[in-house]
Amino acid sequence: MARVPPAAIGPLRLPSPGQRVAGRFTFGGDRGLEKYEWPYIAIAGPRPGPSVLVTAGIHAAEYTGVEAAIRLGRDLTPPTVRGLVVILPLLNRPGFYERSVYVNPEDGENLNRIFPGRADGSWGERFAHRLLDEVVVRFEHAIDLHAGDLVEDLVPFVIYRETGDGVLDMRITRMANAYGATWAVASAPAGERPGSLYAAAAQRGVAAILAESGGRGLLVEEDVVRHVRGVTNVLRTIGALEGEPERVAPPQVVKSFEWLRSPSEGIFHVRVRVDQRVRAGEIVGEMVDLVGEPLATIAAPVSGVVLFVVTSPAMKKDGLLLAIGAL
Ligand SMILES: [Zn+2]
Repeated sequence: MARVPPAAIGPLRLPSPGQRVAGRFTFGGDRGLEKYEWPYIAIAGPRPGPSVLVTAGIHAAEYTGVEAAIRLGRDLTPPTVRGLVVILPLLNRPGFYERSVYVNPEDGENLNRIFPGRADGSWGERFAHRLLDEVVVRFEHAIDLHAGDLVEDLVPFVIYRETGDGVLDMRITRMANAYGATWAVASAPAGERPGSLYAAAAQRGVAAILAESGGRGLLVEEDVVRHVRGVTNVLRTIGALEGEPERVAPPQVVKSFEWLRSPSEGIFHVRVRVDQRVRAGEIVGEMVDLVGEPLATIAAPVSGVVLFVVTSPAMKKDGLLLAIGAL
């Protein structure tokens, strides 16, 4: 018996097989959420196949992810798709025109730290709850596109979380290996809160990964193309898109993801570049005060590779400085 495709997933109206729709949706019945409309593109292949959700812009100033998602939504044509591909190019809708860094201006929270959310919580918690429950868990696969934020530079990497379910973990690893990144992170950032979309999705049974490319608020074409090519290769690998996947080398999985924070407020002088190897104890930056007096030196806690650095020198106490993937 043929599987009848659904007409809608939560608030998203879906196209018939062989069709595409581009439109907007909202989360009805919630006055705070209803103020906004979120863009989406859905492409239904003429034949059955996997269901895949591509999201971007949960951090509103990570533009290469947003741009790549929009481009995929315009480039993927129904005859080449098997199953269903849905693209949500901008999750942090409140923050986009505000150019919000890290957070959502509705409640000042990082939207990627509050999943699975709460039905009766803050704006972001309610958004997370409804997005996860009504949309994300209805898909078999999910890819969340990021970049370094407006004040971050990074080397491309993928992130995923193992769930303990062997079959699901194999599906997740297969997606991560197909993206084509040099580095992968499979552990939570040291000292950082949980609550990421990809991790919450994986815990609910969705094969979910996060991919990072680009940063600093720049739409660098090669960073956008890396995301488009990476997602395209994942789609081909899982059978959601026609064509042979490119053979790409799997990423090297770092042993831990060490996030370094500033011991004081001040001016941050970073001494390393992204993708640079560092040894444990090596000085990676310095903090000085507003008349240039030294406040602290920042040393690498582990040997590894610098995965991202904060490019803004203006640093609050406990402000994020950079991250090292331990090798
Ligand atoms: Zn991000």
